[in-house]
Amino acid sequence: MASARLTKECPIIIVGAGVFGLSSALHLSQAGYKDITVFDKQPYAENEYSTARGADAASADLNKVMRMSYGEEIEYQRLAFDGVDTWNAWNREIQSSKPEDLPRGLKPSDLIWNNCGFLRMSTDGRLSAMERATLGNMTREGLRQTQFVIGDPEDEERARSHFQPGEWEKKSDPFGRRRQGKELVGVFDSTAGFVEASKACTWVMHLCRKNGVRFVLGKRDGQVASFIKDGNGKTVGIRTVGSAEYRSKLVILAAGSWTPYLFPAVSSLLETTAGSVVFFQLPPRDRAPDLWDRFSPENFPVFSYGGWSNGHGIGGFPRTENGIVKIGYRGTKYTNYEDVLDPTTGRTHRISVPKTAYWPQTYDPAVTKQAVDAIKEVVKEAMPELAAIGITGCRNCWYTDSLDNGFLVDYVPNDEGMVVCSGGSGHGFKFLPTLGREVVKIIEEPEVKNDYGRLWQWRTKEGPKNGLEQGEAGPRNWKKQIMATKEDWKFEEASRI
Ligand SMILES: Cc1cc2nc3c(=O)[nH]c(=O)nc-3n(C[C@H](O)[C@H](O)[C@H](O)COP(=O)(O)OP(=O)(O)OC[C@H]3O[C@@H](n4cnc5c(N)ncnc54)[C@H](O)[C@@H]3O)c2cc1C
Repeated sequence: MASARLTKECPIIIVGAGVFGLSSALHLSQAGYKDITVFDKQPYAENEYSTARGADAASADLNKVMRMSYGEEIEYQRLAFDGVDTWNAWNREIQSSKPEDLPRGLKPSDLIWNNCGFLRMSTDGRLSAMERATLGNMTREGLRQTQFVIGDPEDEERARSHFQPGEWEKKSDPFGRRRQGKELVGVFDSTAGFVEASKACTWVMHLCRKNGVRFVLGKRDGQVASFIKDGNGKTVGIRTVGSAEYRSKLVILAAGSWTPYLFPAVSSLLETTAGSVVFFQLPPRDRAPDLWDRFSPENFPVFSYGGWSNGHGIGGFPRTENGIVKIGYRGTKYTNYEDVLDPTTGRTHRISVPKTAYWPQTYDPAVTKQAVDAIKEVVKEAMPELAAIGITGCRNCWYTDSLDNGFLVDYVPNDEGMVVCSGGSGHGFKFLPTLGREVVKIIEEPEVKNDYGRLWQWRTKEGPKNGLEQGEAGPRNWKKQIMATKEDWKFEEASRI
């Protein structure tokens, strides 16, 4: 049994200091494991997970949606709710800290979790099956009162006492559809909001360090080049790009979208894909106070415009403290197939790998024209104030999609020295406080398989596999796309708005 093998003194190596690696390290250290080292190729202690300063992990970002609504998938709904107390406690802890006691990149006024609410707006006049399933599960768990169906007389009545005067009108209708005589259909989730992703990672790295977790960071010392195997193929350590060798009882591979690149055997379950994100930098606050007010988290919710993965595939956030409004497109998740040499086996594989603004080398990123056109269409219709500004930046953010959108946390078959901890599939961030709790259980008692152990186990799937079955020949291949130019970022109508 794994629990008998792994004692609290055993050396554990975690590859990757994103959400999956950090949450695992935090919970393992809280469970009493004393010899944990996290390796990451990025110098997070210097760049504080800032995407503007070189960080390109999925976990490094301005903001991510924190939602509890999960359709039929009640396990994720529960895991998200379980994390809320911790997010609140982290906010309180940061806010009551002296500046000198906080890690670089955090200040006492920071709220890493903001409960501004989430408007899930429908664009086809009815609630989707996923929406109805969410309402069903919220009802079953006694949480229905946290959800407000727009236009439902009972919910509208409840909203009037739940929200501050004027707040409901702004939050439930941020695009002014009622005023324009347009139909407004959707659900407002009062439990949801956003988390400040890079700051949250900086905070959890700080908590891990306080618990004795070591971090080895940077291109040479922190970048894992290959795995060390014993004669039976069991993983017994890692080798870094700088040729240092570290021995371990267990390697937890949490390398996000680089996971298949580092360990191609996992590419039958995981595929690396790109989501597209654009930014609108508001003019300075003193020149545009109304815009800063309009898009502030107090007045503007996180939104999905017709669903994330169907309809327009568009969602967005209130402005950041620096006046950036971020809007994402995930209607199509793009693949980038390359030849990858597995240094551990010496074999070459054709798999999808990330291509970020900084990796494999620095370049000026472009997102697809398809994504830009879809975002522009929604902006023109719903947020014409942003059209007047035009798109000011973009990013490809790399997902690690699994064949069924569920996570992958399990021992590698026939290798009790390695656990893969990945497959965030575009929704892993919110579980920063709770994911590691389940990782520890899976590592300690792999044969027990509670809900999460079953859901996240090493698996196969018949039939369609979340697009993974398309491979390089599929329509999502990046090389088949037209990339948007900076000319495409402009809105023709801007001068008339
Ligand atoms: C566009 C987009 C939008 C998203 N929106 C949301 C959202 O709204 N809400 C939500 O909950 N989730 C969201 N997610 C999902 C969430 O961001 C991910 O599930 C989560 O951040 C994945 O964390 P990770 O640790 O698996 O990977 P990552 O954050 O990518 O971390 C992997 C780490 O491994 C390191 N690494 C890679 N190779 C090596 C190596 N050879 N040696 C050492 N280190 C290495 C990398 O440097 C990186 O730090 C979104 C994701 C994307 C891409």
